[in-house]
This record gives sequence, structure tokens and C-alpha cells, in this order.
Amino acid sequence: MTTNNEVFLLLGSNLGDRHQVLTDARRLITEQAGEAISKSAVYETEPWGVTDQPAFLNQVIRISTSLLPEELLRILLNIEHDLGRIRYERWGARAIDIDILYFGDAILDSARLTLPHPRLQDRRFVLAPLAEIAPDFVHPILQKTSAQLLAECPDTSLVSKIS
Ligand code: ATP
Ligand code: CA
Ligand code: CA
Repeated sequence: MTTNNEVFLLLGSNLGDRHQVLTDARRLITEQAGEAISKSAVYETEPWGVTDQPAFLNQVIRISTSLLPEELLRILLNIEHDLGRIRYERWGARAIDIDILYFGDAILDSARLTLPHPRLQDRRFVLAPLAEIAPDFVHPILQKTSAQLLAECPDTSLVSKIS
């Protein structure tokens, strides 16, 4: 018997045809990782960390997957590669970034994968779309809902819903 887990993914793009890249990423994720249960609007967001770069489009999607966390990560990194991601610098411009925010209520800290994503609570560009589709989902370590994390987030960078 396989167990399905609910997973929240953050998609981001700030190079090339950003809308098309998000559309392609959603299709590949659905084909290779699992059915999409819901998705947030697309948000245009100010760059975080390295601020001297084009604005991002960000979106959170919720999928149901029978994969293990490490298997899912491997597939997502392959999809990033297939969509033409080139790593220039940490937090820098990229055609596509796919982060695992939550994998059910799993807590994990391995060399390749940290769950929940360790910086999600610091980022308005994550919390705004996450709180849109899952305001009541509870962070398994911080024990706060997405809505609470957004309300308490000190990040002041601009995040605007565009679709
Ligand atoms: P950030 O993680 O701060 O958003 P980033 O997305 O720019 O930064 P990447 O270069 O895309 O960082 O990822 C570097 C590595 O992070 C990946 O190869 C992966 O092994 C690791 N990683 C650890 N935890 C996660 C996670 N929850 N989701 C995605 N990647 C993760
Ligand atoms: Ca990221
Ligand atoms: Ca990433």
C-alpha cells in the first residue's frame, strides 16, 4: 500500500518568459511527482537576499505524492535542470527555483534536504501565497499557522498578486 503525502512547493522564476516557465514547471511536477490539489495566484515579488536582480514571479502549489522526500527532491532538481536552470550565485537570478516548503508534517535535516524549508517564515513571497491556499496549515516545528506566520513576518519586501 502506498501512502500519499500532501506537499507544498514554492515555484519561482525571474528570467526568461516567467509565466511560461511556471506553467511548464506545474505540468512537469504533475506528470512526475503527483497530482496538484490546489494552487495560489501568481505573485510578483521583490528579490530577497540578492536585491539587484529582476522581480520574481512566485506561486505555491499543493500536491499529493506517493514519493519519499528525497525522491521528490531529486525529481524537482531534475525538472529545474530540464527547464534550463543555471546556478550563478546563491539567491541570484534563475529561470526556475522549486523549493519544498512542507512535506506533510515531516521534520528532517539531512545534507541535501531540510524540512520544513528553514527560511519560509522569513519570506513574505512564500507566506503570502501559502496563506492564500492554506491559512490554517500548522508549521510542525513553530506550531503556527500560515496566517499567523504571515502576520508576524518582519519581511517588508513588496509582494503583489497578479492573477
Ligand atoms: P533557499 O533554500 O534559501 O531558498 P535556493 O533555493 O536559492 O535558496 P538552491 O541553490 O536552489 O537554493 O538549493 C540548494 C540546495 O538546497 C538544493 O540542492 C537542495 O539539496 C537543498 N535543499 C535543502 N532543503 C531544501 C528544501 N526544503 N527544498 C529544496 N531544496 C532544499
Ligand atoms: Ca529558494
Ligand atoms: Ca531551491
